[in-house]
This record gives sequence, structure tokens and C-alpha cells, in this order.
Amino acid sequence: MSRSAHPAGPRHADVLPEGHYSAPPADLNTLDKKVWAQTVGRDEHGELTVGGIPATRIAEEFGTPVYVLDETDFRARARAWRTAFGPDADVFYAGKAFLSRAVVRWLHEEGLNLDVCSGGELATALSAGMPAERIALHGNNKSVQEIRRAIEAGVGRIVLDSFQEIVRVAHIARDLGKRQKVQIRITVGVEAHTHEFIATAHEDQKFGIPLAGGQAAEAVRRALQLDGLELIGVHSHIGSQIFDMSGFEVAARRVVGLLKEIRDEHGVELPEIDLGGGLGIAYTSADDPREPHEIAKALNEIVTRECEAAALATPRISVEPGRAIVGPTAFTLYEVGTLKPLDGLRTYVSVDGGMSDNIRTALYDAEYSVALVSRTSDAEPMLSRVVGKHCESGDIVVKDAFLPADLAPGDLLAVPATGAYCRSMASNYNHVPRPPVVAVRDGEARVIVRRETEEDLLRLDVG
Ligand SMILES: *Cc1c(COP(=O)(O)O)cnc(C)c1O
Repeated sequence: MSRSAHPAGPRHADVLPEGHYSAPPADLNTLDKKVWAQTVGRDEHGELTVGGIPATRIAEEFGTPVYVLDETDFRARARAWRTAFGPDADVFYAGKAFLSRAVVRWLHEEGLNLDVCSGGELATALSAGMPAERIALHGNNKSVQEIRRAIEAGVGRIVLDSFQEIVRVAHIARDLGKRQKVQIRITVGVEAHTHEFIATAHEDQKFGIPLAGGQAAEAVRRALQLDGLELIGVHSHIGSQIFDMSGFEVAARRVVGLLKEIRDEHGVELPEIDLGGGLGIAYTSADDPREPHEIAKALNEIVTRECEAAALATPRISVEPGRAIVGPTAFTLYEVGTLKPLDGLRTYVSVDGGMSDNIRTALYDAEYSVALVSRTSDAEPMLSRVVGKHCESGDIVVKDAFLPADLAPGDLLAVPATGAYCRSMASNYNHVPRPPVVAVRDGEARVIVRRETEEDLLRLDVG
């Protein structure tokens, strides 16, 4: 894919360079429902609106770049997960996808629970009033302080990730005169990526305790012996941006297999299993995500069937969607600054943000869509690469996209499906302040995370 792969010599503008794209879409003005938040559309002037508010008004009022989050869509998706899984299961929103106090309140109101994986996420959850018993603490290297704060606060569960942690959590709980509910995170030898999964004996990664070689069974043995711990279940999380349910089925089967082993060895039936998150969303029109009710049905069926076969009572299931709830609900609004047409290649379109507000393209080669949203255009499609303002040639927001050829400085572009892992992974690279998150609902827009300022940056610099 490197530029040098192209032979030197004359280039023909009608030969498209290598990339992720296929043909230009029939109409560049159409906003595909699949990749945009629920209340997004175009008004009679051709402008994008969300929650009844035009994009240009959001840009004027709050500046660019800005993450625009559709609260109606967020609540609808949270509710859809809650309803799909019903009262006999728990839905834990994975806070690392995007967390703020407003989000915590919406989750609380919609009846969801919350996963946190650091002291900072725990503090945010508690300060916004999420009841501690509805919080789960995750992480492969929780600090002693984080564990202590979580137990003191009374979190509903801590997910244990290593042999050291089993002992560490047990000691801290005993110290505090408590018995902490815990799950053990196991790796079941399933690696899932988007459209396929691989079932292996081993998983070469940092999370969890391997089922292979009896390590998970040994972890259970130890946890059951420690009086600071109440072992309530087993946890498995197989990956992210997954469309293929068969990886979850294999994982569920292996998790239930362990429950059966535990029953046979200890005479104990653990009451809960957690099957993690990782459900994929549509970043481009080519993606076809599963709906929560399909996911719930598939998981319930497999767990029920496997438990019947093993003569186990069906455990309470929990799931942990992050991206699938928040991802599609937000877009990033940018202003175009410069355009650089490179003959026979593509036009580089520079926007006023970049890898500091969306690292996913640089980090994972992620694919995104983009649209001109301050107006419509009937101009020809122009092969473009949307890039940021940072001092890195890898500072790419959208690698390959078609934008109208009359695109000009001052136009507003929006990149959909940036609700998950964008603001939460944002940095201050080049001392660029991080953009705000503006929530829109029923014709009202309000800042839920304010824009960072140069004063914020300078305040930390105490040399
Ligand atoms: C990241 C993570 C999730 C959420 O993953 P998504 O792809 O955002 O759904 C859930 N559970 C655990 C343990 C995770 O680490």
C-alpha cells in the first residue's frame, strides 16, 4: 500500500490508486441511515441537522472541531440492549468507549450498569450518581488504591485478571472487613475480528487467565478458598468490532464447559457468566451490524442449550457493549482549511483536528465515512484523503473517501460513528486542545464535556 509501490513515470488521472474504496457512490449528498445517528438528516437548505439543529449553528456556537452526540439515539440504543436482554440479564456499558457524567446519568435512567477500568472512570461514575452495586471494575493491572477505592465504594463486582490479583483483592477486602463479589476473566481461545474468528488453544495476549492447560480451573480453586472473595461467575471478552456471532457461540460453550468442571470438582454452580462486549457497528455503508435482539437471542439460546446438556441451571448472563451503544450516536464536525490536489493520486483535504481527536485510523487502520454537511453539491466526486493538522504524515482521519470536487476552505465536513474510542482516546499532541462534546436533543444543544483551553494545558506545566 505504500506510495513507492506505484511505478514512477506518467500517471493517468483516470486510473485510481490503490485504496479502501470501490466506485464513487451514486449520490454524495445522501446520508446513509446506517452510519449516521438516528436524528440526522438534511434540511430544506441541504444542511445536515441533528436533533433538529443545523450543523452550521453547532459550529458557530461551539466552534470546530466538535463531537456532536445525539442523546435521543444514545438512549434508544441503551434501551434496546436493556429490552433485548430483559430482566434476567444485565447490560454493562463499557465506559472506556466514552464516559462523562451526562452519559452516566443517561445509563442510570435507562437501567444499564457500568464497566470501569481505572480510578478516573470509577470517580466519574460515582460522582454522577451511578449506584456502586451497578459498577464493575475491570483491568489487567488495577492498582492497590483502585482496588481499595472500589471495594470501599461497594462496587458490584471486580473482574479478576491474574493470579496475583486474586490474592491482592482478597487481602484488601479482608482488610476492609468485606467479602467482595468477583468474577474471573478467562481467555477461551477465541480471537474475533470483524467478519471472522479463529478458535485456538492459546491466546497470546495480556488479558485474562487461559482456559487452556487448566489455569482457569486453578484460578477458580484459589478464589473459592479465599474468604475475602465471593466468586459469582466467569467472564469472557473475545475482541472488538465483531459482526460474526459464531465466535461468541464458541466462547459461550467453553465458558459453560468451565462451569460444569467447577460443579463437578467443587459441587458449586456459579450463578453468573459475562460474555463481554465487542459487537460491531457500521463505520461505512459496507458494514452490516447485528441488532441487540438478534444478539440476545443467539446468546440466550446457546447458553440455555449448553447448560441443559450439562445439567446446570442457566446462569444469569451479562454483556458489556461499549461501541455498539455510543459509537453510532456521535459524529465529529470539522472545518476544511486547505486542499491539495496531487495529480493522478488524490486530493488531500486538511481539517482543523486530526489524530488528536481520532487516533483510530492511525492506530488500527480504521475505516470511516465522511460527508460535506454545510451544503449539498452536484459537483463530480473527487477522490480524497481527509487529514488533520498534526505534524505526522500518518495523521489521517479518513483514508479514502469521495467528496465533491467543488469542496472549498470553510466547508464543514462530518465524520460519522465517532462516538466510541475517539474522545476517550484523544490526546494533546502538538498542544492542540481536545474538542468538546456537545449533546443534542429535541432542538437543544448543550456542552457535556467542554473544550480544553490553552489555560488548561498551561496549568499542568508547572516548570
Ligand atoms: C473494551 C471492552 C468492552 C467493550 O468493547 P466494545 O467493542 O466497545 O463493545 C467490554 N468488555 C471488556 C472487558 C472490554 O475490555
